[in-house]
Amino acid sequence: MKVIGVTGGIGSGKSTVCDILRTLGCEIFNADLVAKQLQETDSEVIAGIKQLFGADIYEGGVPNRKKMAEIAFCDAQKLEALSQLIHPKVFLEFERARKTAEANGAKALVKEAAILFESGGDKQVDETIVVLAPRTERIRRLEARGMTRQDIEARMARQLSDDELRARADYVIENTGSLDELRAKTMDILNKILSTSSITSNR
Ligand code: ADP
Repeated sequence: MKVIGVTGGIGSGKSTVCDILRTLGCEIFNADLVAKQLQETDSEVIAGIKQLFGADIYEGGVPNRKKMAEIAFCDAQKLEALSQLIHPKVFLEFERARKTAEANGAKALVKEAAILFESGGDKQVDETIVVLAPRTERIRRLEARGMTRQDIEARMARQLSDDELRARADYVIENTGSLDELRAKTMDILNKILSTSSITSNR
């Protein structure tokens, strides 16, 4: 089974690429979604967040993520502590997902993560795909989704630059055209990955 990491700047189209990969028969592990779920269900994570941000950050079992992001993005130590709290647990969940996918006979398991390289999550995958799109287009899409400009800029500042992503990627998708073009590019890369044996892979 191939294990593929998909990342890209916020609004680049990585979730769309993962949706396409799902239709092509891949299993998808959404690291950002799992991290969110852990913040609501894992007692250690909940206790850690309350310690870092105050107990009143939780409202009815759900942390106020907007407030958490505002605080963490201005406080490097808190951001680091939050990462240390959550990333190892997401990694464990991914290993569990890998075993399940393998047992199910999946041809590929995809880890979708906004900060795949920054979190060290790329070490868990065989091949990485980076999705890139022009900054102005990404901002337009995210504003259409209801995000504020300030939030978009803060999240972008936390991610690697396009050049850094490009340098680290095994495969790059330039999401500059239509959805049909994105589908074709995604299919092409998946076929390449699936036809590469693990022995000849560069990792
Ligand atoms: P990310 O997961 O990287 O934040 P998404 O995949 O959610 O980005 O894409 C952001 C938005 O842009 C979504 O609404 C998506 O449908 C749209 N989108 C992505 N790629 C294209 C494209 N090639 N053409 C038109 N819309 C696109």
